[in-house]
Amino acid sequence: MSTAKQVNIFWFRRDLRTHDNRGFFEALSHDLPVLPVFIFDSNILEKLPPKDHRVDFILKYLEELHEKFKSHGSGLHVYFGDPLEIYKKLTKEYKVHTVFTNHDYEPYAIKRDEGVQRLLREQKVDFQTFKDQVIFEKSEVVKDNGEFYSVYTPYMRKWKETYAKLLGKEKKLIQYVSERKLDSLIKSKGHLLAHRDIGFTLSNIPAPGKTVKKEILTKYGEQRDFPALDATSHLGVHLRFGTVSVRDLVKKAIELKASVWLSELIWREFFMQILWHNPHVVDGPFKEKYSKIQWRNNKEEFKAWCEGRTGYPIVDAGMREINATGHMHNRVRMIVGSFLVKHLLINWQWGEKYFAQKLFDFDLSANNGNWQWVAGCGCDAAPYFRVFNPYTQTEKFDKKEEYIKKWIPELGSRTYPDPIVEHSFARNRVLEAYKVIK
Ligand code: FAD
Repeated sequence: MSTAKQVNIFWFRRDLRTHDNRGFFEALSHDLPVLPVFIFDSNILEKLPPKDHRVDFILKYLEELHEKFKSHGSGLHVYFGDPLEIYKKLTKEYKVHTVFTNHDYEPYAIKRDEGVQRLLREQKVDFQTFKDQVIFEKSEVVKDNGEFYSVYTPYMRKWKETYAKLLGKEKKLIQYVSERKLDSLIKSKGHLLAHRDIGFTLSNIPAPGKTVKKEILTKYGEQRDFPALDATSHLGVHLRFGTVSVRDLVKKAIELKASVWLSELIWREFFMQILWHNPHVVDGPFKEKYSKIQWRNNKEEFKAWCEGRTGYPIVDAGMREINATGHMHNRVRMIVGSFLVKHLLINWQWGEKYFAQKLFDFDLSANNGNWQWVAGCGCDAAPYFRVFNPYTQTEKFDKKEEYIKKWIPELGSRTYPDPIVEHSFARNRVLEAYKVIK
């Protein structure tokens, strides 16, 4: 071990901000200088293509952190590799007292953290973790008998009750003034990594910003279903990487009485607790009996769906939007998802995987939970016999075809394909296929 002065480490992961960062605040609240660390996990990166807009996003926000730390005589220390190997190096280079970090609830992350904790324990280094990316985690919102909720509405009610208790008599949510403690950072310059250092090149898909107009939240209930309006927050990616604080957002939603928008933030936590209590959903349906469905899994049709060439304009518009921007409107996500699973009878896990590669806001629990919802095999899911009619959906939510025309300029011309499958034929086919689960 080095003879250097003792330090504590703060390990940034899904919390790339200095403001209201719980674990960072805890790390900065001790006497020892704090070494701020980010690790590009090679186990995750090696599965990605060389251009990935989420990697650009992370690099951008790491740079922002680094610049902030510089003005306090410090800097972010960024590494690339297997976290276990990096911690072996770090504990050789520094005399580490404690590693602080925030909870991550995904199965891979849980295993990774257990490994890191074991290694640190062998070296007599403490590992302390905190809740940060959600208001309620794990079993904090469960039924009175301790079981997790598998239905959203009672979960949401209990969430709100528990939130009211959390606020206490002062009716105030505790927040963490981590950004005021940056002078406790180690006086060491740090180092960033660039795209080429981690085997990537710039993707050129720009990320949505962090500022949201008040009206988006206050009018969310009326406008959220119309994709041409661009009336949602686009904060998904910021929630995913913690460049915003969920406590700030919940507070804001309540102040603005934006109750429908608040309920979306609660959906996010609902699916997180589903994953936490049911890690099996990563590999298959929440309801086991749905694994009996015989999918057609036609590769050509899947390709046409991915590329926005199904001949169903609302579906193709959505797929072209996700391919070009890394985003897709929620209503359209439901339509394209239903189309893949029900019209084409393709396993929802194919769609889940495709979205995971494309979405800026990709999040395992939300993506998996929503795909299972679409397929009818998840908790509190759309009933299996609900087959969205893409034409009726267009009539309701994009009547003037503004959204569709934005993404399909050739609509109405000969180059636009005929429908890949006829709607009522597809509907009867899927109902037959889903009979096995009755
Ligand atoms: P807003 O509409 O402004 O909502 C605010 C935030 O609430 C979102 O950013 C998100 O964090 C949360 N939220 C909203 N709706 C949901 C929901 N149904 N489930 C969970 N959280 C929600 N959302 C993801 O964050 N990551 C995903 O990988 C993802 N995959 C999806 C896959 C399918 C098939 C479907 C139907 C939905 C998926 N969603 C996912 C949910 C939803 O579509 C997105 O959260 C939303 O469109 C993101 O846009 P926004 O940031 O403007 O959110």
